[in-house]
Amino acid sequence: MNPESMRSPEPPEANPPGPQENRTRSGVFLGTFLNIRFYLDYSWFFIVALVIYTLSSFFFPHELAGRDPAVYITMGVFAALLFFVSILLHELGHSVVSQRCGIPVPSITLLFIGGLAEISREPDDPKTELKIAIAGPAVSLVLVVVYHAVAWGFEAVGIPEGTAVFRWLSAVNLMLVLFNAIPGYPLDGGRILRALLWLYSGGFRRATFITSRIGVAFSWLLMALGVLLIFGGQWGQGLLFLIIGSFLKSAAESGYAQALSREFLDGVRVRDLMTHDPVCVPAQLPLNLAVDDYFLTNHHMAFPVVDADRRFRGLLRLDSLKNVPRERWPYTLAGELADTHNAHLGIPAETSAASALRLLLIPGQGHLGVLDEAERLIGIITRHDLLHFIRIHTELED
Ligand SMILES: [Zn+2]
Repeated sequence: MNPESMRSPEPPEANPPGPQENRTRSGVFLGTFLNIRFYLDYSWFFIVALVIYTLSSFFFPHELAGRDPAVYITMGVFAALLFFVSILLHELGHSVVSQRCGIPVPSITLLFIGGLAEISREPDDPKTELKIAIAGPAVSLVLVVVYHAVAWGFEAVGIPEGTAVFRWLSAVNLMLVLFNAIPGYPLDGGRILRALLWLYSGGFRRATFITSRIGVAFSWLLMALGVLLIFGGQWGQGLLFLIIGSFLKSAAESGYAQALSREFLDGVRVRDLMTHDPVCVPAQLPLNLAVDDYFLTNHHMAFPVVDADRRFRGLLRLDSLKNVPRERWPYTLAGELADTHNAHLGIPAETSAASALRLLLIPGQGHLGVLDEAERLIGIITRHDLLHFIRIHTELED
């Protein structure tokens, strides 16, 4: 299982607009190798325990009867750790080729579901994409052969415990290759097919559309299988299929959204799409008056709050008003409330539209203030503005 390699749509900018920094990784930092930061997601600890438990309680006792429980546990731990090393090597395969092609890989995270190489942007041409996509499964195939040879070696010298562990490792890596061979985006097979379609038909968006549809269809199939397994009493496996299916589905859908934004938002700046000189709430206004004079008369869900010199203080959102008891409204200033959660809700006017979209797609963050060099508010941009822009272009093309 390894539907990895989600790639963010474009290179990190020289001065990234705030909220990205807020998205701290939920995981343990392992170290840096080849300029790549390695992380273990917290969910990994759960899955590694589950793999060790399954192997040492069921799989190995079934393969090799009559050993001491400590032997099975040792085999389970060893096999589980090498399994995750295999996933790391698969991700490193993608990452090293990506870096060779000039696309930096800031980090690799091991998740419950496999690995995730953060490739900083989509390749510019189909051949690069093809090379990066093939590299991971190629590494896994080599591992299948190597583990098989090691299992054979253990068999030759008469150590059946070693044989069992390395046979399992070889089989599980083969499954990884087969799973990734499914031609649905974002699996490696989907990326390979996308690169080929892109190469021979010329359209990046069309190729992404087709392969992400296959990816979505496959994810539905996995989820349906999960439901069947749960009804059949195998709830553990069923649940795993459901989780993997829904993860794949959202990755396939967001992959297509990224392809659209790449095509239509390329070269577009926030300045080009923002609403100029929006209605602003003065920072010194008490909340009760802000509600009466702005929310009840203008029907927006959020207003920028500015000081007397138009310096941006933050956004006053309708939902954040709920955090203040109504009887406190006359004594709380709009600026005070905006300060409490503003820090990063303003972006420079020169930010690319694609990275603004990425920020605006964060749940609960549909608006951003647009600022000039002196941090004064010059406009506002919403998720709706950007999606509308993309939709118009899509409609005009099809
Ligand atoms: Zn891969």
